[in-house]
Order: sequence, then structure tokens, then C-alpha cells
Amino acid sequence: MEYVIPAPAVVSLAVEGSSARFPVRRIYCVGRNYAEHAREMGHDPDKEPPFFFMKPADAIVTDGADFPYPPMSKDVHHEMEMVVALGKGGANIPAAKALDYIYGYGAGLDMTRRDLQTAAKKMGRPWDTGKGFDCSAPCSSLVPATKIGHPATGAIVLEVNGEVRQKGDLSQLIWNVPDMIAYLSTLFTLAPGDLIYTGTPAGVAAVKKGDVMKGSVEGIGSLTVKVV
Ligand code: MN
Repeated sequence: MEYVIPAPAVVSLAVEGSSARFPVRRIYCVGRNYAEHAREMGHDPDKEPPFFFMKPADAIVTDGADFPYPPMSKDVHHEMEMVVALGKGGANIPAAKALDYIYGYGAGLDMTRRDLQTAAKKMGRPWDTGKGFDCSAPCSSLVPATKIGHPATGAIVLEVNGEVRQKGDLSQLIWNVPDMIAYLSTLFTLAPGDLIYTGTPAGVAAVKKGDVMKGSVEGIGSLTVKVV
């Protein structure tokens, strides 16, 4: 194929135990999927169910790379999340079959310009500038489900400069992984290469230049990203 301008590079993640990489197509994110986090953001998880938003694929930052503090914000927050990577696609996927569509799992950060997100919420505007900015999606290497199965429990932790900021457990997800895939696939036709950031536990807070964020999901992996 010949293009009139240079074609964009394929964004990809490393895979544990493989020299081949996972190509990223879309990044879906679940909002308010842990009750304690919904409450800390001023919402009632019993009245407002989780929901979806998206980030561009080229917002990925790989493990060990730097996170450049983004422009136009004075309040950039970390949100530590388990990431689901799809190996198969489809629409209207039944929850009972949803785990079969998963290639593997990772540990990711849904970095957020909280001041821009809060302003957008107040004005009823989209969240893109708060959520979908450049480098807003750090993600670890992936581990295949063939190696670890499908973790439904396990600690999810974020440390900043060695101090624990966020701590939760996968068992606290409001929408579990099969349910979120089933629901998401009623809204969009999913495809191999899609990632789902599954929501963050409580403890989100601001970062500053020089901070080192180290996140982990028990049984899956970890990532370390420095704010520069
Ligand atoms: Mn999030």
C-alpha cells in the first residue's frame, strides 16, 4: 500500500514470555467501577452505574518509559487499573462466553487531567481533554490468560515514591470482567487488539514532576512510570 503521508506506527505492548507484541486497536475505559472511588468523586454507586469512555491507542506509554506532565493542567491524577486485552472480537457477546475473548491482562494507569475533567462535567461537555490526552494510558507488558487464567481477586496497588496511594482488590469491581465485555459489546463491535481499562479503586491523587509511580495487580504484573 502506498500512502500520501507517512502511515502512523502500530501501537503495541510487550507480551511476557514472547518476542511477539500485542497490537493495540482501541482503548475503552470503565468509569466508577469501584464503589469507594465513586464515593470519593462525589457519586452514589447504588444510583449511578459504571459507564464507558475512550482514549486514543497512541496514548499508550510502555512500562519503564516516562510520563510527560501534560500541558493545560495543574491537577493530574493517577488511576491504577487492571487492563483486559482482547484476542477476539464480536458484538453482543454473552457474559457466559466473554472470558473466551480475552488474550491476556495487564496493569495500567488511566492518567487524568482532573481539573479539565471536572470543568467538562460541570458544563456537560465530553471528557476527551481530561482523559484522552497524549501519553494518558501507561500500560505494563501483558500476560496471556493461557498462563494465568482469569483473575477475579487479587490486590491492585499504586505506590508513588514508595508510599501506597491506592489499594483495592479485583473482587471489588462493580461490573466484573465478563459483564463489562458483554455490555461494551452491545455498544461497539469489539475487535482483537482492544484494551479495556477496568476502573480504579479509591485513593486517586495528584502527581508532580519527578514522582515515580509503581503500580501492580496481583497475579498479573506491574509497571513503573516516572513523571517528567
Ligand atoms: Mn479510570
